[in-house]
Amino acid sequence: MPDAHLWKNGPIFTGRRWAEALLVEGGRVTAVGAETETARSAPTGTAVHDLGGHLLVPGLIDAHLHVADITRARQGRDLSRARSIAELVDQVRGWAEEQREGTIVGRGWQTDRLRDGRAPTRRDLDRALPDRPVILYHASGHVAAVNSSALTAAGVDRSTSDPSGGRVGREADGAPNGLLYEEAMRPVADLAAAANPPDAAALGRTLDIAASLGLTTVATMNTSPEELAALRTLAEDRVLPIRVRTYVRLSAVDAIAPKHLAPSGGDGWFSVPGVKAFADGAFGPRTAWLSRPYSDAPEESGLPVGSEDGLSSALACAAERGLAPAVHAIGDRAVEHAVRSFAPLSGRPRTLARVEHASLTPPEILSELDRVRPALVVQPGFVWSDTWLTDRLGPERARWAYAFRTLLGQGLVLAGSSDAPYDPLDPWRGLAACVDRTAPDGESANPERSEALSPEQAFGLYTASAGTVLGEPDLGSLEVGARADLVLTRATDLPRALALGAGSVEATWVDGRPVRVPGRADRG
Ligand SMILES: [Zn+2]
Repeated sequence: MPDAHLWKNGPIFTGRRWAEALLVEGGRVTAVGAETETARSAPTGTAVHDLGGHLLVPGLIDAHLHVADITRARQGRDLSRARSIAELVDQVRGWAEEQREGTIVGRGWQTDRLRDGRAPTRRDLDRALPDRPVILYHASGHVAAVNSSALTAAGVDRSTSDPSGGRVGREADGAPNGLLYEEAMRPVADLAAAANPPDAAALGRTLDIAASLGLTTVATMNTSPEELAALRTLAEDRVLPIRVRTYVRLSAVDAIAPKHLAPSGGDGWFSVPGVKAFADGAFGPRTAWLSRPYSDAPEESGLPVGSEDGLSSALACAAERGLAPAVHAIGDRAVEHAVRSFAPLSGRPRTLARVEHASLTPPEILSELDRVRPALVVQPGFVWSDTWLTDRLGPERARWAYAFRTLLGQGLVLAGSSDAPYDPLDPWRGLAACVDRTAPDGESANPERSEALSPEQAFGLYTASAGTVLGEPDLGSLEVGARADLVLTRATDLPRALALGAGSVEATWVDGRPVRVPGRADRG
C-alpha cells in the first residue's frame, strides 16, 4: 500500500486559497485543487478520507510563545484572579503552607486589576512570608514584585545601581521597594529558574495541550539553555507531539554548544532558527518605549533596552552562526530602534528579521517598516486583553495599536501568536480577535473596525504567513510540496470554525500522521 491519502468532499483552505481535494504522499502535499484532477493524480491504493462537508485547514502555527513559562504557569501559582494586595498576600501564604521550603514563584498580577491601585511591594510580601524568597511576576512578565528575602538572595540592595535596560524600584530613601523592572529582574529570574527547572515530561504535556487546540508548530521564544536541552531531549526521543522551533535568548547563545543549535534528526520536528533580543518592555508596567510620554504618566516614556549599535553587532554575531534575529519591540520608539538594528544584516542568508509584537505603529513608523520590511509577529489576543490601553496611550495613539489591516495593507508579512502564558494559549481566541475587534464582554484595546481582518486573512496569519516568518514556506500551507500538517474541523466554513473556537478541532495530523492527544479519542 502506498503512503497516500486523498481528502475530498469538503472545503479545503490551503492557507492562501480554496480547494476541493488534497492528495498527500509520504507526508507531503503532492496535489491540491479541483477534485477530479487531484483524484486523477492519486496512485492505486490511496486511502480516501471523506470530509463530509467539513472544513480542512493547515495545522495552526503559534509563532511566539514560551513553552517553559506556560508549563510553570500550568503547574499553578497563578495570581491573575487576585483583586487586591491582601488577596495576593493570602495566596502566597497558602502556597508557603503547601511548599514548605525554597523560593515561592507566582505570576499574573496586574496593577490595573488590584483595588489598591498600586503594585505590591517588598513590605507587602514580607508580611506574607518574611524568611524565604517570594518572586511574583506581573502578567506581562516585564516586572517582578519580590520580598526582602529575595532581594537579599539576589544581592540587590540600596547600593545596587540600575542596570542598562532595567530599573530597581526604590523607596524615598533609595532602598529597593521590591519592584524590579526588565533587566533588573535578571538576578531574581535566576533564582526563580533554579526553583523551577524545566522538566522534559512537563514540557511535553504542554505541547500535548497545544496539539489538542489544533497547533502543529510552535515557536518558543527567549529559550534558556535548560529549556533548549529539555526540548531537544523530547525531539531526540521522538516524543514531540508537534513541531517546535526555538529562538534562544541572545545573552545565552555563547553558552550553548554549536551542536545544540543544529536541527535535530533532519525530520523537521525540531530546530533553532534564531535568537531573541529585547528593545523595550511592555505597556502594562509602562516600560514599552514610546516616542512621546505615556498619557497616564506624563513623566514616563518607557525603558529602552540596550543601544542600537550593541543590538546590531550582537545580531550580526548571531547571524554568523545562522541564527535569525527576533527583537521584542512594543512601543513605537522601540519598533523604530529594532528595525534600524537590522540594517547591517540585509542581504545575509537565513536572516529573516522579525519584530516581536510591533504593537504600536503610527503612520510615522510605517515608512521605516516599509524600508526594511521585517516580518512582524503580532498577538491578536491582546486586542481583547489590553483593555486599559487607551489610558496608557490616549485615544488618538491607541488607534494605531494592533493595526493589523494597515500593516497588511503595506504588504508586510504578519504572523499570529499568543505570547502564552502572557495571554491564553488558545489560537482560536487570537483568530477571533483578528475578525472581531471587540471582545465578547465589550472590551477592546483598539476597537477601530477598519483594522479588522477577514477570516481568510486571520487564518493566513496563523498558517502560511507564520511558515514564511519561520523561514519555512513548506509549513502552514497545503500547497504542493508542503508538509501535510492538517486540522479537520467540525465546521463547514471559516466563520463557523471561528464561532466554535477550539471546540471546532476534530482531528490533527503532522507529516500526514494523526497526532495522538491524551484524553482525546483519535479519529485519524
Ligand atoms: Zn513573549
